[in-house]
Amino acid sequence: MRVLIVDDSKSIRMLVAECILTLGHEVIHRESGIDAIECIKEKSVDLIMMDVEMPGMNGFETTQKIREINGDDWFPIIFLTTKVDDDSYTKGILAGGDAYMEKPISPLRLQLQITAMERIYKTRQKLKQTQNNLLAANKKLLHLSMFDQLTGLANRRNFDETLDRQFKLAKREKIPMSVVLCDIDFFKIYNDSYGHQKGDQCLADVSLILSRACARPTDLACRYGGEEFIFILPNTDLQSAAVFAEKVRAAVAALKIAHAGSKVADCVTLSLGVATYQGQFKSAEEVTKAADDALYRAKEKGRNRVEKA
Ligand code: GH3
Ligand code: MG
Ligand code: MG
Ligand code: MG
Repeated sequence: MRVLIVDDSKSIRMLVAECILTLGHEVIHRESGIDAIECIKEKSVDLIMMDVEMPGMNGFETTQKIREINGDDWFPIIFLTTKVDDDSYTKGILAGGDAYMEKPISPLRLQLQITAMERIYKTRQKLKQTQNNLLAANKKLLHLSMFDQLTGLANRRNFDETLDRQFKLAKREKIPMSVVLCDIDFFKIYNDSYGHQKGDQCLADVSLILSRACARPTDLACRYGGEEFIFILPNTDLQSAAVFAEKVRAAVAALKIAHAGSKVADCVTLSLGVATYQGQFKSAEEVTKAADDALYRAKEKGRNRVEKA
């Protein structure tokens, strides 16, 4: 532990320091309340030995200030004092102290007190560590539940939730909202010719282009399933969404991922269906259905193209 000793008497600081150093802890000392407060602002401290009677700010006032500054970040504070009446004891505990030791100091009792406090300190450290691990695990779980592992894009659940939210917003604000459904052309043949691993790599490479296409912070690229992707483009009309879709189509074609078995090009291509909500649909699903119908027509018309609903 790093122990801060606060006492206006140098000889007491030295005596206390010696006891603590013998136990193998690190020691810092300050001679006034003000200096102690400055110290805890700069350095992390695990325990404080606090003199009560000091000129200027006394030990109780200093402790109260330290507790205010550090909020939830608790560490033990042990008072050293000549005043051991009930009134002083009460003030000390209410000010935020944890133990009370009488001067003149018995080195043995001081060391035992520190050993006891160290037990609490260690339990608290373990608890903090567990809490941090839990927070990190939760964050990871949340990410796993909302993003697709292979591509890093938003997953289906994320899509459903976001679409629902954006649909309601578009309806309330009377603004358009577009979706663009994309499907890789002849991907089964790609897998059959190059293998599943190459297929996965292709999905990841295409996804990177899709995520880069999202220029506005509210645009979202999602993996809809298998080799199908979908964009949510809030506050975007049909014409703008079609321009966006054409840019995406061209960007994926420009990757020039070799696809010898494709019947439409010598590289990996996308077919895209665009649909826009402008007050005509009753539900978010109807927007997706319209984009799916448009995608079907893009496939029918020869693939590697954009069709509007
Ligand atoms: P179309 O041009 O009509 O879309 O033909 P297609 O072959 O792309 O469509 P189809 O639905 O017949 O095949 C989709 C293929 O995508 C089949 C499936 O094995 C593959 N696929 C789906 N998910 C994954 C994946 O995560 N990794 C890989 N490597 N392949 C996948
Ligand atoms: Mg003093
Ligand atoms: Mg498909
Ligand atoms: Mg396909």
